[in-house]
Amino acid sequence: MKKIGIDLGGTKIEGILIDENYKTITRKRIPTNQDKGYSSILESIKNLILELSQESNDKASIGICTPGALSLDSGLIKNSNTQCLIGKDLQNDLKNILHHDISIGNDANCFALAEANLGAGKNHNSVFGVIMGTGVGGGIIINGKIHHGRNNIAGEWGHHCLHDDGNSCYCGNRGCVETYISGPALEKNWSQLSGMNQSLPEIIQNLDNPNFHNWKKTFLDNFALSLSNVIDILDPDMIILGGGVSNIDFLYDEGKAAIYEKVFSDTIDTPIVKNALGDSAGVFGACLL
Ligand SMILES: [Zn+2]
Repeated sequence: MKKIGIDLGGTKIEGILIDENYKTITRKRIPTNQDKGYSSILESIKNLILELSQESNDKASIGICTPGALSLDSGLIKNSNTQCLIGKDLQNDLKNILHHDISIGNDANCFALAEANLGAGKNHNSVFGVIMGTGVGGGIIINGKIHHGRNNIAGEWGHHCLHDDGNSCYCGNRGCVETYISGPALEKNWSQLSGMNQSLPEIIQNLDNPNFHNWKKTFLDNFALSLSNVIDILDPDMIILGGGVSNIDFLYDEGKAAIYEKVFSDTIDTPIVKNALGDSAGVFGACLL
């Protein structure tokens, strides 16, 4: 069966139609227009899906990748940075207007699913996929499938506690990973240390700045602690990094070494690798849901 995948982002909605061999038949991108509200987003997604369906001769499955987590009890979206989606039942609302079954998954799970099956994690049985961007999240893939867990929170790595009584987080807890190694958190930390407001790509150019060493050490300590916890518990075959922060090269040598130092084992060879699909992980992950 052909597959339609929709990646619902804060600024753009991307859709793809792929065939049984995961080859792209067609791909389209439209603006999200968050300011026009939820019903307008529903309408846009519906039209995009109808457009993609026209290019498929037979019925296609439909999957949606959404920002934010889904509540297991209610199916409603929570914690999304696309504010107008919070509290909405996107899955059922789309099902009703399209008269078609819809699968839905959060962006970190879709990222991990796509990378494990079609990207950097191909031929690995267990993969932990990590998004480090504006927010931080993770997804666990076992034998090609998402491991959701009893409470539907498996892989919610971004909100496990790194530091007791640490930074306060929007989720209501303190010390969450996201408050230390998301793009905005790293930029804030640099600004506090150096007094300079710079973006992440600019910050990593400051090799001669005396504050850079401290910034980098704190970053790597937190990065290593957060992922060594994952290896100690899950021991995946591979860890794949995505999101804007994953473009920092030192994560793959110094970062990896720092993780290895903290893991509870004297022999460790877990590959810590960059994603292979880039921005396309969302749409492909949605197809695979
Ligand atoms: Zn949190």
